[in-house]
Amino acid sequence: MPAPILEIDNLTVSFDGFKALNNLTFAMQPGELRVIIGPNGAGKTTFLDIITGKVQPTSGTVRFKGKDLRKIPEHQISRLGIGRKFQTPRVYLNLTVRENLDLAANRRKNVLATLFSKTTGAGKSASADRQTVIRLLETISLSSKADLPAKLLSHGEKQRLEIGMLVAQSPDLLLVDEPVAGLTDEETERVGDLLISLAQSHSIIVIEHDMEFVRQIARQVTVLHQGSVLCEGTMDEIQNDPRVIEVYLGQAPTVTPDQMRMLRIAAAMAWADGNFAPEQMRVILTRLSQQFSDDPAHQAELREELKNYLGKEIALETLIPQLATETEREMVLRLSYEIIHSNTINQAGSAVYQKLLELLALPPERVEAIEAEVQAQNTEVSTPEAN
Ligand code: ADP
Ligand code: MG
Repeated sequence: MPAPILEIDNLTVSFDGFKALNNLTFAMQPGELRVIIGPNGAGKTTFLDIITGKVQPTSGTVRFKGKDLRKIPEHQISRLGIGRKFQTPRVYLNLTVRENLDLAANRRKNVLATLFSKTTGAGKSASADRQTVIRLLETISLSSKADLPAKLLSHGEKQRLEIGMLVAQSPDLLLVDEPVAGLTDEETERVGDLLISLAQSHSIIVIEHDMEFVRQIARQVTVLHQGSVLCEGTMDEIQNDPRVIEVYLGQAPTVTPDQMRMLRIAAAMAWADGNFAPEQMRVILTRLSQQFSDDPAHQAELREELKNYLGKEIALETLIPQLATETEREMVLRLSYEIIHSNTINQAGSAVYQKLLELLALPPERVEAIEAEVQAQNTEVSTPEAN
């Protein structure tokens, strides 16, 4: 394994005795795109402040490319190759998009000289710089707006421009604090695509609240809580982790991660046709609470609790491979078939059901048998007088 680009050991930051970071340990490999999440006050911003040298640790070490950052003043840390994007865009509103990028690429040169050399277009290095800026404009998808003043950009475009300005300074490690706060869904997705494409050539730490966005970009997620690392893993692992749910919902889940996964697959099936019908909700809550408990009083509690977790869908491709046993896969099939049949079946719904079947890869005769069982049971329920 290569040496970590960033290595933080037993780091504590106290503000008048209050520990904003508490014995935090963290490491990240070069080329990683790491997302850091955590409730308000978890210490996320302080974590970035420590890396950039804005805040000094009370104890512990921070190493960047093997160098101990504690001995280095803030203004020199950025020259080592750490770039930070703050929450609100800091672009020059009266300059054009191109001029902003030009300036960023030539931070160490004189501002006027930069603008002047561009207008005269003289010299070899000026044309090399122009090429760099042209490539940056493409990277941030703003080529068509290159000559507009930055003040005419949308909020999302300004965010992308500022990310471009950061990249223009060729940092090895990019720190990005809540880049999609206040953006539309479409703009959010574009910022996500940009970060994913930058991750091919940079190490990136993104701090974010927006879970949809985290799901779009995240490979490895670190959860901070009360100044320490609560857990790390893929988005799916941390979402099913009872400790994370407790931190976010303020209440410990009584269901196990396996049960949670079952619930999430059921939710994905119910969302398949783009419409989570009340009847589907009823089927899911009834069946799963009965499956998870024999005690009617506990079942009622479970129904209330499970409702909290029926959030947005996670892809079946992620969830199904995590089912450990054939019994679990059969349970998922039974429940999914019932969910699908408790609503009018449309094309989207049946396509998702087909995908589920493929992913479950159960023997066709088991599938047939289970479908037949569910059908028989539904006939019983809907026409009791016929029996
Ligand atoms: P997050 O970004 O995760 O919301 P912060 O890193 O901003 O969390 O803050 C972590 C905790 O440290 C919060 O309780 C905050 O009030 C406290 N804190 C942050 N900066 C200071 C400071 N300069 N002085 C005193 N307390 C601070
Ligand atoms: Mg913060």
